[in-house]
Amino acid sequence: MTKDEILLAQKEFLFPSVFHYFEQPLVIDHAKDQYVWDADGNQYLDFFGGIVTVSVGHCNSRVNAAVHAQMDKLQHVSTLFVNEPQVALAKKLASLTPDGALTKSFFTNSGTEANETAILAARCYTGSSEIVALRHSYHGRSAMAMTLTGQASWRLGGVPQPGVIHAHNAYCYRCPFGKTYPSCELQCAKDMDEAIRTSSSGHIAALIAEPIQGVGGFITPPKEYFPIVRDIVKQYGGLFISDEVQTAWGRTGNKWFGIEHWGVVPDIITSAKGLGNGAPIGLTIAKAEVADALKGVTISTFGGNPVTSTAAKAVVDFIEEQSLAQNAADVGAYLRAGLESLQQKHSLIGEVRGMGLLQAMELVEDRQTKKPANLATLRILEAARENRILLGKGGLYGNVLRISPPMNIERSDVDRFLSALDKSFVQAGAVA
Ligand code: PMP
Repeated sequence: MTKDEILLAQKEFLFPSVFHYFEQPLVIDHAKDQYVWDADGNQYLDFFGGIVTVSVGHCNSRVNAAVHAQMDKLQHVSTLFVNEPQVALAKKLASLTPDGALTKSFFTNSGTEANETAILAARCYTGSSEIVALRHSYHGRSAMAMTLTGQASWRLGGVPQPGVIHAHNAYCYRCPFGKTYPSCELQCAKDMDEAIRTSSSGHIAALIAEPIQGVGGFITPPKEYFPIVRDIVKQYGGLFISDEVQTAWGRTGNKWFGIEHWGVVPDIITSAKGLGNGAPIGLTIAKAEVADALKGVTISTFGGNPVTSTAAKAVVDFIEEQSLAQNAADVGAYLRAGLESLQQKHSLIGEVRGMGLLQAMELVEDRQTKKPANLATLRILEAARENRILLGKGGLYGNVLRISPPMNIERSDVDRFLSALDKSFVQAGAVA
């Protein structure tokens, strides 16, 4: 098909809710490592990685070789039969969890399903059905996951599921209490107690939280936040579910899982995205007693598929062998410094935040009023496309630029990215 035929077919045969960036949609034809090419042959430096998913580079040769070999050996047999790739992956993942405390895995095909499984396990384990989620969160697109999600624009379909309340996140840049860290003494975290006592029965199944809120715009809580909310949630009988769909596999720097930066050991971790580097996989990994409480039968036809399991194992092995969590910390710090220099230059950049190779900039029209600069955000995305770099957008107000390149990039890639981004700010008319 020609590019125009592809675009016309997209319009005619796909749900319009399958939305895309840019006024003129970008058709991607192929990709390798940190680059993608459009249908006209233009090369782009991909600093969004297919929404925080391309962890070890597009079409990673090592991962793909393992996938090709497995495709020709055994592609699918369902979980009614045992297959080695699924078991080998589960065994490897158990060795990586915080304190080695989470040892049993359930595999599905997406982050949404991973979270559904986590909620189900927490409900079975505690006998309670009530869940606490955080404002500004994103947890997926099933009815339950949309209800957990703390952003109106991602909650479609009207009536939410019962049994979910939303507590305050730690959004220091826009503190809901109008305070400043650390003199705030973490009022947002302590408010968890009142949220549970006023908005639930007082017996909860779990708190589900992203260590860094991805779609919310890489909102990064201070170090005290999760230890405080974990203690409160435990007091009311709840489990701690860490949604690591975006934050796992070394992306936040030096740690396999984002939550490790807060020194909290969750009862359940969910993940997807970067674990498969593009292969559709969802992971729910739990403490053994929690996994064992999910009694009865439940099945995911494709979950634990030998091909996706092989892909995920190859991704994790690659991250380990190439020390990519370390690279994410090193190159991430370099990227962060560069973004902070841009902040000095462009008054539109209200805040730079994130960890490792998960970095964001919240754009505001005025640094005093913090009025979200959502139109300027769109202009910068368009200009960035012209300058052949890809980055993401997010935040409740649509005014956050999200940056999450493959974890095996180098400083020279960052230099190229920053110079194109700087140019994009200038072209979008955003210089101070
Ligand atoms: N949790 C988080 C934190 C996510 O970022 C996402 C996807 N953006 C999901 C869950 C849902 O994952 P999926 O789109 O694979 O269902």
